[in-house]
Amino acid sequence: MALLEYKCPCCAGKLEFDSALQKVKCPFCESEFEMSVFQQLDEALDSQVEENLDWQTSTVDTWGVDEGMKAYSCQSCGAQIVMDETTAASKCPYCDNPIVMMGNLSGDLKPELIIPFKLDKKAAKEAFTKHLSGKKLLPKVFSDQNHIDEIKGVYVPYWIFDSKAEASIKYNCTAVKSFTEGEYRITETQHYVAVRSGSLEFENIPVDGSKKMDDKLTESLEPFDLSQAVPFQTAYMAGYMADKYDVSAEDDAERVNERVKNSTVRSFKDTVTGYTTVEVESSNVNLKNGTAKYGLLPVWVLNTSWNGNNYIFAMNGQTGKFVGDLPCDNSLKKKITWITAAVVAVATFAVGYIIHLL
Ligand SMILES: [Zn+2]
Ligand SMILES: [Zn+2]
Repeated sequence: MALLEYKCPCCAGKLEFDSALQKVKCPFCESEFEMSVFQQLDEALDSQVEENLDWQTSTVDTWGVDEGMKAYSCQSCGAQIVMDETTAASKCPYCDNPIVMMGNLSGDLKPELIIPFKLDKKAAKEAFTKHLSGKKLLPKVFSDQNHIDEIKGVYVPYWIFDSKAEASIKYNCTAVKSFTEGEYRITETQHYVAVRSGSLEFENIPVDGSKKMDDKLTESLEPFDLSQAVPFQTAYMAGYMADKYDVSAEDDAERVNERVKNSTVRSFKDTVTGYTTVEVESSNVNLKNGTAKYGLLPVWVLNTSWNGNNYIFAMNGQTGKFVGDLPCDNSLKKKITWITAAVVAVATFAVGYIIHLL
């Protein structure tokens, strides 16, 4: 499979997309390049066939490469690189050059849009360090600086859905009134049926198309501002990781439909006001004109394994929203309890000693 590399035309150094400049920059000679300069390199993506660039793979020895993995030959250092078959952009582990797997971005796999990273690695590391601060019972592996440095900028594949919901919903409502009449306290409950029908349009609902990413985690990274999305270009991936989708739009549609239905029911319910209680009696929501666009959205990711469990932390690379759970080290908890016990013992001893002196 063909690889694309981003090298500085001035010094042959590895190029990176600079999120602050929104341009490609050479960190060695400081040259800056507009994104349009690299447009031509992406022309091959529109063809389904991988053209004559395939010859490069013929020199790669794929024997012994595990299922689900793919072998590439780095054009800079010649090393054989084995990557997960869904990888669309990465770095050569030997020479650190950014590489883009063109075959995973061509034809049907070509994303329509991309939200470029707005926040850099420094911002991601700061957010993670802040997330850790004050957590005394945290296992050391989480706060180790070398580990924090491993935080990676990943363009996660997403399906971005538009949909229209036509709904007719029936609510059972009550209005309760209490008043006093003579010696009696009277509670009067009136029953109403409210009916709402109409349509709602939904735009830009993102659902990740990656098996690797937990749907709950990616949903908590929302919202993404899709109005800042730009037409896809591989140059945005220089220096970052990217995966191609391995969950189809059809498979994601079920999750989207569920979300659309739930928020339709909620929005309609918001219009049924002035009652003491409102219960949905029956709802009929039909979804129409569903479309999905394929896009790559920016996420900073840090994986940590501890005590046989995997922990994942993620930051929205556009807004800085941070999510992830931290474990609590029980052995540290014991230690702290012991230290407290020791301090109490010393204090008791001191008091005892003072009393003795008196
Ligand atoms: Zn340069
Ligand atoms: Zn290399």
